[in-house]
Amino acid sequence: MKKKWLFTPGPTPIPPEALLAMAQPIDYHRSEDTVALIKDVLEKLKHVFQTENDVLFLTSSGTGAMEGAVANLLSREDKVIVVRSGKFGERWGEICTAFGVEIIPIDVKWGNAVDPEAVETLLDEHRDVKAVYATLCETSTGVLHDIEALARLTRVRPTLLVVDAVSGLGADDLQMDNWGVDVVVSCAQKGLMTPPGLAVVALNGRAWDAVSHSDLPKYYFDFRKAYETGLEGSVPYTPAVTLLTALQCALTRICEEGIRSTIARHSRLAEATRSAVKALGFTLFAVSPANTVTSIQLPEEIDGKAFLKLMLDKYGITYAGGQSQLSGKIVRIAHLGWIDESDVIVAISAFERGLIEIGCDIPLGAGVTAAQEVFRAVRVG
Ligand code: PMP
Repeated sequence: MKKKWLFTPGPTPIPPEALLAMAQPIDYHRSEDTVALIKDVLEKLKHVFQTENDVLFLTSSGTGAMEGAVANLLSREDKVIVVRSGKFGERWGEICTAFGVEIIPIDVKWGNAVDPEAVETLLDEHRDVKAVYATLCETSTGVLHDIEALARLTRVRPTLLVVDAVSGLGADDLQMDNWGVDVVVSCAQKGLMTPPGLAVVALNGRAWDAVSHSDLPKYYFDFRKAYETGLEGSVPYTPAVTLLTALQCALTRICEEGIRSTIARHSRLAEATRSAVKALGFTLFAVSPANTVTSIQLPEEIDGKAFLKLMLDKYGITYAGGQSQLSGKIVRIAHLGWIDESDVIVAISAFERGLIEIGCDIPLGAGVTAAQEVFRAVRVG
């Protein structure tokens, strides 16, 4: 079997103990052991969300939690602000529209982060806005949004802040309680180092109040059912028990490392990657880059899709390409989840070799040296 390296912003590599846990015989989802498992997972998630609020989980990918965060919080007459700066911000808008909710979009040029002042202006113009839907790391562009600044605006208003932290949770800082973020949604296959199939959501008191008034239709993704059963270590429907065992292992890792250190590690890996990319003469696509993923603007003469195919076929390396209008134009190298400094060196060295192979004139080794310098400086400093 060819050795494979996964440098995509989800799914991400799974730690061995999580893989082994999934090889255990399947358990009944109402067994005492599963009750204890669910309670433990939900407790550990609080640490990752940096919150005292209870967390709930759903058996779905991240989009299920996003849909739930619309269906459970809003009512038919509501208006919401949606920050659209890439594919996932657009998804918030699409879900709201599907549920008949009026959206006031803020369209941000892909690669840029939203200007909090623009959000403030809209909030002042539309005082009846029920919520702002935003994204922590806009994975399609690699941009980090200033969620703390947005929360400063919403927490003093009757407006909720709902954050898609699907890719950013555990890599980019998101202090739910300290900043006053009302709702955070995420899922398993990113920073939580678990295979796809579980979504996680945290809501504060203001958000639960909105849930109690919401009249949009919901059934499978009914947050109240998931929350109330979850408190008892139970579930309304058969959950992905196997994935929960993997998630427990992954969460144990994060709790042992400590969420602040986990975020600091991601920050170091991201800085090294950015430094490498620049040393090779490339431009970063994101104006305010996230810790989760580094997006690299490709010169026009490089066929991004052919490059990604070469990297997979020849080196067993998967980077992510561009989505929608960025298809073939950017490469995204993720440094997310179970990734360390050596992995980043592999990602960069292979990047260099692939570029040379397609005829790019780059200073071979300059990227690796730049990344090593970042790691050395951090260790010395
Ligand atoms: N939001 C963001 C920021 C994402 O990165 C993704 C997945 N790439 C999603 C939402 C959707 O998640 P899923 O594919 O698990 O439904």
